[in-house]
Amino acid sequence: MMAQYLAIKRAHPDCLLFYRMGDFYELFFDDAVQASAALDIALTKRGKHLGEDIRMCGVPVRSYEMYLSRLVRAGFKVAIAEQTEDPAEAKKRGAKSVVARDVIRLITAGTLTEDNLLDARAHNYLAAVAEAQGSLGLAWVEISTGEFALQPCRPDRLAAALARLAPGELLVPDRLLQAEGLFEVWGDWKQVLTPLPSARFDSENARRRLEALYGVGALDGFGAFSRPELAAGGALVDYVELTQKGKLPRLAIPRRMAEGAAMEIDAATRRNLELTETLTGQRKGSLLATIDETVTGAGARLLAARLAAPLTDPAAIDERLDAVAFFVEHGAVRADLREALRRCPDMERSLSRLALGRGGPRDLAALRDGLGQIPHLRAALARPALDAPPAAIAAAARELGEHSALVDRLTRALADDLPLAARDGGFIRPDYHAGLDELRTLKTEGFGMLARLERRYADETGVASLKIRHNNIIGHHIEVPARQADKLGEPFIHRQTMANAARYTTSDLIELAGKIQGAAERTLAVEQQLFTDLVGEVLARAAAIALAAGALAALDVAAALAELAEVRRWTRPLVEDGPAFHIKGGRHPVVEAALAAQGGPAFVANDCDLGPDQCLWLVTGPNMAGKSTFLRQNAAIAILAQTGAFVPAEAARIGVVDRLFSRVGAADDLARGRSTFMVEMVETAAILNQSGERALVILDEIGRGTATFDGLSIAWSVVEHLHETNRCRALFATHYHELTSLTARLPHLSCHQMRVKEWQGDVVFLHEVAAGAADRSYGIHVARLAGLPAAVVARAEEVLAALEKGEQGSAVARLADDLPLFAAARPKPAPAAAPGPSPLEERLRAVNPDELTARAALDLVYQLKGLLGG
Ligand code: ATP
Repeated sequence: MMAQYLAIKRAHPDCLLFYRMGDFYELFFDDAVQASAALDIALTKRGKHLGEDIRMCGVPVRSYEMYLSRLVRAGFKVAIAEQTEDPAEAKKRGAKSVVARDVIRLITAGTLTEDNLLDARAHNYLAAVAEAQGSLGLAWVEISTGEFALQPCRPDRLAAALARLAPGELLVPDRLLQAEGLFEVWGDWKQVLTPLPSARFDSENARRRLEALYGVGALDGFGAFSRPELAAGGALVDYVELTQKGKLPRLAIPRRMAEGAAMEIDAATRRNLELTETLTGQRKGSLLATIDETVTGAGARLLAARLAAPLTDPAAIDERLDAVAFFVEHGAVRADLREALRRCPDMERSLSRLALGRGGPRDLAALRDGLGQIPHLRAALARPALDAPPAAIAAAARELGEHSALVDRLTRALADDLPLAARDGGFIRPDYHAGLDELRTLKTEGFGMLARLERRYADETGVASLKIRHNNIIGHHIEVPARQADKLGEPFIHRQTMANAARYTTSDLIELAGKIQGAAERTLAVEQQLFTDLVGEVLARAAAIALAAGALAALDVAAALAELAEVRRWTRPLVEDGPAFHIKGGRHPVVEAALAAQGGPAFVANDCDLGPDQCLWLVTGPNMAGKSTFLRQNAAIAILAQTGAFVPAEAARIGVVDRLFSRVGAADDLARGRSTFMVEMVETAAILNQSGERALVILDEIGRGTATFDGLSIAWSVVEHLHETNRCRALFATHYHELTSLTARLPHLSCHQMRVKEWQGDVVFLHEVAAGAADRSYGIHVARLAGLPAAVVARAEEVLAALEKGEQGSAVARLADDLPLFAAARPKPAPAAAPGPSPLEERLRAVNPDELTARAALDLVYQLKGLLGG
């Protein structure tokens, strides 16, 4: 057995080998050490190899998926070696012969198909990058749904393209791993990188392989693919076949994504804008989670894919917006449709499992239920007196197709309660197949006969507690308590003596058990055959079913975006070619939803106009006034609009944004050896080097992580560069109020500030954007709100006053001289019994209730809550 194990392991050196033994998958040697540590399960030993103990651990076959998902998540690949013959067959070759085993599948992060291993609402792409003649091609496939796409990709755009896809696994030719200039890109994806020999990325082989896969003489009909695209696509298909051991899932016709078809958003910008997850890595609180009203897994995945790749073609965007508008207008249709969609299971993933021979009866039921909803969906869309639906909806309605014969067949065939695997049997409904019904009767009769035999033996022996039982080792047997064993003579044949019981058989029992066993085996065989027939019928219609599943997802997304638009009062944006960026009454979707959920104050809407004569806005204002929120909301509105969604604004007119950049907040990237300031400069460099006239740039507080004058100088020259060279639309938030003087020289620069009101020495944030420049940052005020000790706040005010008054140098010198005095003046730590007034008490004492307006009173309550902390 070890010889067999080692031979299989040699063929899969980079995988953990799950070696099937009975009810367990066992791992040996180093695999066992690694897996037991990763899974936190016991490491044992069994026998010796070359004089050393063989280390071993195992996981039960019944629950192996749970372990598998943890291993795959930890970055392992797993090879599953199953028994490929009946142990009885092996025995025929001799008592000591080993059951034949072979690897039936390699499990890698990008090739998962099981629901337990996948997130129902997220894609899991397997992607490949290839190079030919100096240009790159990118291909990606979602094995669990069959989606397959290719795109050409310039080397400097690869990072952004990968950020868009966020692949679960990335195949890269060895040679490209060494390529200068791509080093950083691979660094971002090293957890999911699978290097492969460069020979696998040959574009000619790839072309032949793809032509054979789709049974066409030339691929031109699918799109004009470049050599690197083909090489990447071919390598992908090759890898899928390798991991699935020769089986291929149903792969859709490859879709070609042209260069520039999607708004380009790099990884840093995605992170900063919290598109699909927050900075802390959670889905909740991201833009996607806030707008996701879809009711099916496939719909959620499509929405995520669309949000990740907003379009750049106004006509295509309009088509999506028309669909949303239709469902906004026809609320009742939308409600009916969503009701039917809610009952639709995930057909895409079930279909893929069935195609890979890995599906079960529940996957058939998913198709029965999903396709079964189509008449309801159609009825909802075909309400009388409805306007003709827009093109996207009409197309989806057509693509839903007609599947009633299949639905009818599956409904008649499948029982109510279904096992996970076809081999468990019992999933075919009575009355569906006469032969099966007959076998089942035979089995049931057999059980009746067993019961009668048991009664007879109990009567004859006088052992009332005599029972006929069954277990997997000795099969059917007669069991009596040990102390009554002497009552059983002829015809009982002794089998086993246990501590409390004795077990017997008889020739009658052997014969009857044989009949029951035979009927059970035949029943199972018939059911297997029926299952295979049904799967065959489904797969014969796979293309039509996949089309229907895609149409369901598209309808779900359109209806969900309409629901969102109506509930949150969002409006249809106008997206056009040209330089406009005019948002009236814009809101930040996530902050607004968060404020509403907390029952906080209403979000204050703000306008933004980055038209050609003022395309660069300098936004100043105090800390906490809402600058970052304003910047991000405009980026979010652009993304939503080009995704084909309504937007949180009273009106929005947007000239297509081809690239979006944001540099927001500070983050160390210590893992890659970059300090906060270095990260900031790397991101700023990318923006200045790459944005053109159609780009939208959001810059928040450039130059904050270094000395004041260095930072100001950098911010200054960045503004000039954006204005003179990039000429893009940009929002630039800063605390360097000195920058506002640039308006005198830069005609397209315009100054805006976040309004605040001073009220009895306090600052009230109005969250309103107004023309003009702020002259103060009120940082100390925010510091007080945050609970800095009163002495520190007081001293900071003193220092600020000195700095504002004098030359910086002399002020600092005087302050330094002041230090001993200050130390003397430092309040002694108050005795525990009589603590000084807290900031909360101080604030309250300063209030004159008679003078408060309603607005100021409300603001006060918020301030007091802020002082409470938390
Ligand atoms: P800093 O300079 O300290 O980074 P900031 O000016 O960027 O501050 P934000 O972080 O944008 O301020 O906003 C602070 C808080 O103010 C937000 O978390 C939000 O709760 C609230 N806020 C921002 N904008 C608005 C708005 N338009 N309406 C209502 N509340 C808002």
